[in-house]
Amino acid sequence: MIKETLKKNLRGLSKADLQTVFNDWDEPSFRADQVYDWIWAKGVHSIEEMRNIPKQIIKRLNDNFFIKPIAFENIQKSSDGTIKNAVRLHDGLIVESVLIPTDKRITACVSSQVGCSLNCAFCATAKLKRMRNLNPDEIFDQVLSIHKQGIETFGRPLTNIVFMGMGEPLMNYNNVLKAIEKITEPSGLGISPRRITLSTVGLPKMIKRLADDGVKFNLAVSLHSARDNVRSSMMPINDAAPLIELEDSLDYWYKLTKRKITFEYVIWKGINDDIEDINALVRLCKRIPSKVNLIEYNSIGDDKFQQADEEITNSYQLALNRSGISVHVRRSRGKDIDAACGQLANKNMTTINKEK
Ligand code: SAH
Repeated sequence: MIKETLKKNLRGLSKADLQTVFNDWDEPSFRADQVYDWIWAKGVHSIEEMRNIPKQIIKRLNDNFFIKPIAFENIQKSSDGTIKNAVRLHDGLIVESVLIPTDKRITACVSSQVGCSLNCAFCATAKLKRMRNLNPDEIFDQVLSIHKQGIETFGRPLTNIVFMGMGEPLMNYNNVLKAIEKITEPSGLGISPRRITLSTVGLPKMIKRLADDGVKFNLAVSLHSARDNVRSSMMPINDAAPLIELEDSLDYWYKLTKRKITFEYVIWKGINDDIEDINALVRLCKRIPSKVNLIEYNSIGDDKFQQADEEITNSYQLALNRSGISVHVRRSRGKDIDAACGQLANKNMTTINKEK
C-alpha cells in the first residue's frame, strides 16, 4: 500500500487514463467504464460506494487513489427560496454556491476560484485575495450537490448552471472546461451546454480561445460600462484589456459560434447613469450581436456605489429597445442572505480563509 500522501485524485484521471490503469492491473476495460460511471454519472463520494466492482479492485483503488468530495458547511435559506451553501473544500478553504429556484428553473450558481484577483470595486468577492483555482471535481461537485439539493427541497432537477459565483472562470480555464465536459457529457450528468452560461470580466485572449475550442455553452460579459474611462474606474482589468480589444474578441466569438453574447450591466448613481453612457452601450450593442441584462446592484456596504433611479433603468431599456436590442431587467435573488451577485464573501469565509 502506498503512503496516503502519494495517493492520486481518482477524479483527476481522464477516461483514457483510467483505461490504462485497468490495463496495467490486468483487469478488463469494462471495469474502467463502470468506475468512470460511478464517479461522474452517479457522483459517488467514496470508492466503497461502487457496488458492482469486485472487492479486490475496490481495495486496489483505495490503496492508490482518493476521492475528496466537497462538504456543505453551512446552508442558508432566503425568504424567496434561494439557498446559499458554504462549501468546504478538502484543504479546508471555503467557497460558496447558490441554488436559485424559479417556477420553471432550478439554477446553480457556482464558484471557480477561492477568492478573486480582479479587484472590481463593486464586488464583495474582490475583498478576498485569490487563494487558488478550484479543481474540476470541486466545480463538478458544486453542480451535482445543487442538483441533489433541488430534488430534495423542491422535487425538481437542476435545469441551468451559471458560472457567476466566486472567481474568474477564464483565469481557471482548463479546470472549468474539464468540469463542464463532465457536466455535459452523456456519461457524466448529461446537462446540455445550452443551459450553461459562463460569465467573465472580459479577457480577450481567453474569449478567443473559447471560440477556437468550439465550446457550446453561452458567454456573458460583465460590461457595466461601454466607456473606457468609466469602466476602468471600477474594473482595473479594463486598463490591461480595454474595450477595443474586448470588442475584437467578441466579434471573433460571434463569427465562430454564431451565438449572441449577453452583457451584464449594473447602473449606478453618478457613475454610468448619463445619456452618454446609454449611447455608448447602444453603439456597442449595434456593433456586437448581443443582448443586455440590466442587473440590480447588491450593496456591499460601500457608499460610492448606489443603484441608479428606476427612471434611468427605463431610459436604458427604451434606448436599447428602440435599436432592436433585447434587454431584460434582472431582479436580485437571495439578497437577505447575501447570496446575490457580487455578495459572495461572507464573514465566516473571510475569517476561515484568512486563517489558512
Ligand atoms: N468573474 C466573473 C464572474 C463572477 S461575478 C465576472 O466578472 O463576470 C458575477 C456577476 O456579478 C458579474 O456580472 C459581476 O459584475 C456581478 N457583480 C459583482 N458585484 C456585484 C454587485 N455588488 N451587485 C450586482 N452585481 C454584481
